[in-house]
Amino acid sequence: MKPAAFEYRRVTTVTEAVKLLRDAPDAKVIAGGQSLVPLMNFRLTRPSLLVDVNGIKALQHVVWDGTFLRIGSLVRHQQIADNVEIQKHCPVLTVAAKHIGHWAIRNRGTMGGSLAHADPASEWPAAAVALNAEIEVEGPQGVRMVPASEFYLGYYSTVLQPDELIVQIRIPSLKFRLGFAEMARRRGDFALAGAYVEDDGNGQGFVTWFGVADKPVRVPTVLPGNLEARREAWQQALGTLPIVDDKRSRIHLAVQIAERAWQHSQLEGAKYLSEEAIAGGDQPL
Ligand SMILES: Cc1cc2nc3c(=O)[nH]c(=O)nc-3n(C[C@H](O)[C@H](O)[C@H](O)COP(=O)(O)OP(=O)(O)OC[C@H]3O[C@@H](n4cnc5c(N)ncnc54)[C@H](O)[C@@H]3O)c2cc1C
Repeated sequence: MKPAAFEYRRVTTVTEAVKLLRDAPDAKVIAGGQSLVPLMNFRLTRPSLLVDVNGIKALQHVVWDGTFLRIGSLVRHQQIADNVEIQKHCPVLTVAAKHIGHWAIRNRGTMGGSLAHADPASEWPAAAVALNAEIEVEGPQGVRMVPASEFYLGYYSTVLQPDELIVQIRIPSLKFRLGFAEMARRRGDFALAGAYVEDDGNGQGFVTWFGVADKPVRVPTVLPGNLEARREAWQQALGTLPIVDDKRSRIHLAVQIAERAWQHSQLEGAKYLSEEAIAGGDQPL
C-alpha cells in the first residue's frame, strides 16, 4: 500500500521542529522512518505533515561528560553498535544494538525513534529503564527531563506530547554489574523475551524485561546464589507484571532469559557485560 497524501518539511533546528509540531497537531516527526513508514503505508497513521529531523546536527552527538553518557535522539542503532565511547562506558548498549533488526534497519533507525515508538519488545526503551536513564524532551513550553521509568504508559504509548521532540537520552554511570540476554525466533526479529539484570553484589538487584509485558518495568528482586531460589525470585518478580499473551510460555522464556542475563552479569570483570561482549564480539547480520 501507499501512504495517504502528506506535506513534508525538513528542518535544521529543534526550535523549527517544535514550532511546526505545535502549529499542526496531527503532524509527525520522521527520523529513521523504520517504524513510521510501514505504519503510514498500511494507513494505520495518516499525518498531514511529516517533520523530517534528519538535518538537525544538535541531535547527533554521543558524549561522555564524566557523569552521564548522553546520546542524541538522531544517533542510529548501528552508530551505537560502533561507537567507542559507548563501548567503554556502557557496553551493554553496544551488544543490545546488534540485536535490533538487520543492517538496513540499524543504519537508518534511531535511538529517539525507538524510544518514542515504545514497542514493548524493543531493546532501547528497556535499556533506558534498566539504566535509570532520563529522556530529555523539548516542546513549546521548553525542555523537560523525564525519568525513563515514568516515560512509558503501555503498548506504543508514552508521556510524550504531540508537539514535543526527544532531544537526547542521559544515562548515569552505573555502580553495579549489568547483564543482558534476549531470545528471538531468528536473529534480528523482535525479542520474544529479553532482560537486563543488575546485581549489587549483595544478593539484591533489579530485572527489566522486554517483550514480556505492555512496557518495560524495572523490578527489584533478591538474587540468591542458589539456582532454584533464583528461579523463584524471577517468578515472583514476573508476578508483578501484566504478562502479554501466551502466558505460560512467555513466563517460561522470561525466567530463562533473566537467568541468562544474570549469569552474564556474574562473569569476572563484568560491568554492563553480556554474552557477546564476553565472547569477544558477535557476528551481526
Ligand atoms: C523489519 C524490521 C525489524 C525491526 N526489528 C527491530 C528490533 O528487533 N528491535 C527494535 O527495537 N526495533 C526494531 N525495528 C524498529 C526499528 O528499530 C526502528 O528504527 C525504531 O523503532 C524507530 O526508529 P526510527 O528512527 O526509524 O523512527 P521513525 O520510524 O522515524 O519514527 C517512529 C516514531 O517515533 C517518532 N519519533 C521519531 N523520532 C522522534 C523524536 N526525536 N522525538 C519524538 N518523536 C520521534 C515518530 O513520529 C514516530 O511516531 C524493526 C523495524 C523493522 C522494519
